[in-house]
Amino acid sequence: MTQKPSATTGRPHVIVMPWPAQGHINPALQFSKKLVAKGLAVTLVTFTDKKLILQGSAVGSVAVELISDGGLPLDEHFLEKFRSLVEQGLRDFVARLRGPAGTAAAGPCCLVYDSIMSWALHVAKELGMVGAAFFTQPMAVNAVYLNVVEGRLEVPPAVDENGLVAVEGLSETVLLATDDLPSFVADPGSYAVAIDMLGGQFSTVREADWAFCNTFYSLEDKLLDWMMNQLIPIKSIGPTIPSAYLSNKESLDLPKTGSEYGLNLFNPDGSQTSITQWLDSKSPGSVIYASMGSISDISKTQTTELALALQLSSRPFIWVVRESEQDKLPPDFLSAMDSSDQLVVSWCRQVEILAHRSIGCFLTHCGWNSTIEALCLGVSMVALPVWGDQQTNAKFVVDVWRVGARARADVESGVVTKEEIGRRIKEVMEGESGEEMRRNSEKWRKLAREAVADGGSSERNVDEFVASLVK
Ligand code: UDP
Repeated sequence: MTQKPSATTGRPHVIVMPWPAQGHINPALQFSKKLVAKGLAVTLVTFTDKKLILQGSAVGSVAVELISDGGLPLDEHFLEKFRSLVEQGLRDFVARLRGPAGTAAAGPCCLVYDSIMSWALHVAKELGMVGAAFFTQPMAVNAVYLNVVEGRLEVPPAVDENGLVAVEGLSETVLLATDDLPSFVADPGSYAVAIDMLGGQFSTVREADWAFCNTFYSLEDKLLDWMMNQLIPIKSIGPTIPSAYLSNKESLDLPKTGSEYGLNLFNPDGSQTSITQWLDSKSPGSVIYASMGSISDISKTQTTELALALQLSSRPFIWVVRESEQDKLPPDFLSAMDSSDQLVVSWCRQVEILAHRSIGCFLTHCGWNSTIEALCLGVSMVALPVWGDQQTNAKFVVDVWRVGARARADVESGVVTKEEIGRRIKEVMEGESGEEMRRNSEKWRKLAREAVADGGSSERNVDEFVASLVK
């Protein structure tokens, strides 16, 4: 599957290569659209065509190129095989674009690679291209991983008498408990597997020409400055949510492309129009939107608690339960639902839902994209983190940005009960606590818009990058 690039003649051509997961493709694609809007030619490389649904109009003028991963099995050799396949695929693709020897001027000049594929920088250098790392997790999480790989933070970390850890770079703002740390750091068992990719992000980044992060300066100013002091100038270029939600001006993307990301690894469920009509019928701020993202594998017990919490909340809800997760729902849950007030879908256009005035609360696993989407759209959150960076994101949502409440697991069972979820929903949607979170959410919504407006902090960083390629 190759979507032909529009003419690249005369325009610097950038290849953008996200890790093949929804939470990595979305920000990379949106960043690609922005580069196109600023005059560059961009090809986004994907690795799997099994389920990739190309919504051509939403991809706009970003070309899409498939370097097939050949359906590699997810075994212990996956990373190594994937790397060699991608490296070769990339070399072949660039050679094809450059044409016969001597016509190299027409070829791509820059590779923007997902930071967890840190090895891609060597390919960029070998091919004489500018190399730019693209971080899809917040700076708070990047700082934790950097501290681990540079030996300043043990795994698992030693805690003080209050059970807290001071992490360099974060400690001015917040101290972390073990369950606020990324799970790979808190739990050494899973850490070994993740270190190559997450710790490895920093193995080459100091040699990269550019490094970007999907965050914005006012959200993580101290951490961005701290990282700069570590001689890693990661530039904020976010939020990378579809531009229609960030600007009062006409969308930066091509017409009709600014309201969605554009590449889905899951089939959108039914018609988004009917979901919007359903939301239109609800009062402002009354609906709970619940989603645990594209990867989380929640236990049957936890799914049941979540289902009951939503039912018992007596509020309208729309809940994304991916097809692969639906057999974990309590028996008869779907058939007993009152569809005038309760919707379960297998996938939807999340940003469109979060932007709807009826949404009053986002019950989220705190994946970074979901978190920053909620921050930009002024939606308060009930945080139900599961693994990876989500626990640290949740900590910042609750105690730093103050736009949500965390539903915590029962210490003995490890399950977040329906009662606990219910309490947090009330805390977010009702009373003085809810009011305060809504005020804070509105503040972040405005600051996010400022970052990507003309002259804003993220916009200036993107402009600087584009100017360096156009010169
Ligand atoms: N998403 C979506 N529709 C859904 C659920 C999620 O479009 O029904 C998008 C969501 O907007 C976000 C991404 O999928 O951009 C999920 O990324 P995130 O980092 O939040 O979590 P992950 O899936 O990586 O755990």
